[in-house]
Amino acid sequence: MESCLFCKIARGELPAQLIHEDNEVVAFQDIHPQAPVHLLICPKKHIPTLNDAAPEDNPLISHMFVVARKLAKDKGIDQKGYRTVFNVNEGAGQTIYHLHLHVLGGRVLSWP
Ligand code: AMP
Ligand code: ZN
Repeated sequence: MESCLFCKIARGELPAQLIHEDNEVVAFQDIHPQAPVHLLICPKKHIPTLNDAAPEDNPLISHMFVVARKLAKDKGIDQKGYRTVFNVNEGAGQTIYHLHLHVLGGRVLSWP
């Protein structure tokens, strides 16, 4: 996707401080953090929303959670607690239509 912001970050065409990169995903700090730790994990593949993920994307989605768990540990929030979130579509507040997993922690998180 030529114009997609997160595709551009994943391709290295826009500046972002990547804190993780592998063959499948990149991870970077959210530009408007909602918690002391607020990371985004994005697949390199353009998938607009979780609704658009196909069965063959299941290993990729699983991998996103493996990376989330690793980064939470690296950031020292794994024991106190953290949250992983996919916002899906407008009603849930999705603003960027390239799949991304939020990882939030470093403070007490209320619900919802
Ligand atoms: P969502 O509302 O679930 O679509 O989340 C999109 C997130 O992307 C928001 O938390 C934004 O703060 C974040 N964001 C938008 N642009 C950038 C950017 N250039 N670099 C890092 N995070 C961004
Ligand atoms: Zn994209």
